[in-house]
Amino acid sequence: GNRLAGKVAVVTGAGSGFGEAIAKKYAFEGAAVVCVDMNEKAAARVAGEIGGEKCISFKADVSNFKDWEALIKKCKEELGGIDILVNNAGTSHKNKPTLEVTEDEFDRVFAVNVKSIFHSVHAVMPLLIEQNRGGSIINTSSIGAHRPRPGLSWYNASKSAVTNVTKSLAAEYGPKGIRVNAILPLMAATGLIETFMGMENTEENRAKFVGNVPMGRLCTPEDVAKAALFLASDDSSFITGQQLEVDGGRGI
Ligand code: NAD
Repeated sequence: GNRLAGKVAVVTGAGSGFGEAIAKKYAFEGAAVVCVDMNEKAAARVAGEIGGEKCISFKADVSNFKDWEALIKKCKEELGGIDILVNNAGTSHKNKPTLEVTEDEFDRVFAVNVKSIFHSVHAVMPLLIEQNRGGSIINTSSIGAHRPRPGLSWYNASKSAVTNVTKSLAAEYGPKGIRVNAILPLMAATGLIETFMGMENTEENRAKFVGNVPMGRLCTPEDVAKAALFLASDDSSFITGQQLEVDGGRGI
């Protein structure tokens, strides 16, 4: 495909799960892709699997502004800027009673899931404005932002901060032609599933969970990557501030 031909895309958390699938989908559609992850080896593996000159890996902790500065410098100097940013890296405390979540766990969840977006905006928005060629920012939230359940209180709170700021940013930067949308996936069998299940990650427990999903299965990285392609491409040219639930109907 060539739906993203000529575009430069930065995908965070690209070393695993949704981010890996998004990076691969974008590269397949012709974008130059920067695979960002704090796990250097994982990011390098994905960039290697994509191959070609147009894909690079970059080690960064998204909760650290210095890493964002270095990343943006690289995009500017070596890739001709940036068109698409996917704020996908995220973390969670374990699924457990709220009173058992420690302050350190809370701080880490908000640093990685929310403060990272603060940093990304400070790093990327001035460049998008200066380039004057639009842009698409996609934030990975979670269906938990709309449908919070017991056990993931602060993770879900962090993800509703993500969807909320997505709307503010969309309203503020729409006049510059910069679109900002969120994707809200249902649970998927990625690196985070052990953290989310809160019970043993067995076939039986997963079956219980999907029993409440109208489409009768977990989400997959491919489901999320297809939504992320839509929101990155010109197919969604007049769509901004949206919260796209990729959840097989669970949020209804
Ligand atoms: P994953 O664990 O498979 O991948 C996450 C990647 O992000 C990992 O490679 C990890 O090294 C990287 N990462 C974590 N913290 C980072 C940091 N501070 N800086 C840079 N990289 C960092 O998990 P996933 O399910 O693919 O998660 C992707 C996003 O999807 C997260 O924001 C997560 O909250 C969200 N999400 C996941 C699910 C699910 O069930 N898997 C559901 C809804 C939303």
